[in-house]
Amino acid sequence: MKTIIANWKMNVGVRESVALARGTLLTLRGRKHIPELVILPPFVALSEVRKVVARSGAILGAQNVFWEDAGAYTGEISARMLQEVGVTHVLIGHSERRQVLHETDEMINKKILHVFELGLKPILCVGETAQVHQAGKSKDVVAQQLKAAFSSAHLRPSDRLSIAYEPVWAIGTGQSATVSEIVEMHVFIRSLTQEILGERVLSQIRVLYGGSVDGENAYRFLREKEVDGVLVGGASVKINQFKDIVQAACEVLEAQSV
Ligand code: PEP
Repeated sequence: MKTIIANWKMNVGVRESVALARGTLLTLRGRKHIPELVILPPFVALSEVRKVVARSGAILGAQNVFWEDAGAYTGEISARMLQEVGVTHVLIGHSERRQVLHETDEMINKKILHVFELGLKPILCVGETAQVHQAGKSKDVVAQQLKAAFSSAHLRPSDRLSIAYEPVWAIGTGQSATVSEIVEMHVFIRSLTQEILGERVLSQIRVLYGGSVDGENAYRFLREKEVDGVLVGGASVKINQFKDIVQAACEVLEAQSV
């Protein structure tokens, strides 16, 4: 199975989200082997997008979550509220939240523990800055992010976890990581996560790549066994580009089925 996660960020309003959701579903029509599709609209569009994707097989996710159930947390959205509108997957620790909103590893850890408790599926983002990449210290930073995010976490057999390797320097820049960098990091992420969370979690985790994925490069990433899928930002709101990414995933799945 290959997964495509569409992170629409703060790029579309409610009406645009509905239209984009319809267009996104159309990209799957008539295909024999289809990828798992997870759509992350802005919070305000979740209820309307839920109606569009109902019974389509596409999965509804949120771009963020808070770690308390309810209370005096102005502007925050709880996991229970998300579940009420049909959300099953939640993005946690996106680099834009780490950098622009100053989200810390400690906050990310609280979110991870909370969503596991409620049975939501986290999609944890990890990745290094350009400076760290140039210094050859990418694995050190990713290791520290993983250890902090999963501190005190215990996966139950029914829990599912996605980890998106998203180098900060590759997000929205048009400069993606190379296939060998991605594969090497995915192997590292899988083995370290197994070390942190325990041997049996291997079948419960999926490792995805994100960072300037487009119709041109998606096939090269998705055909790798180590790449369970891609997290797409910019190209997910441009339906022609997104269609090509879906096409690439379908081709990989088709090739794997023979
Ligand atoms: C992202 O927002 O997670 C992302 C990978 O963005 P882009 O595809 O635009 O690089």
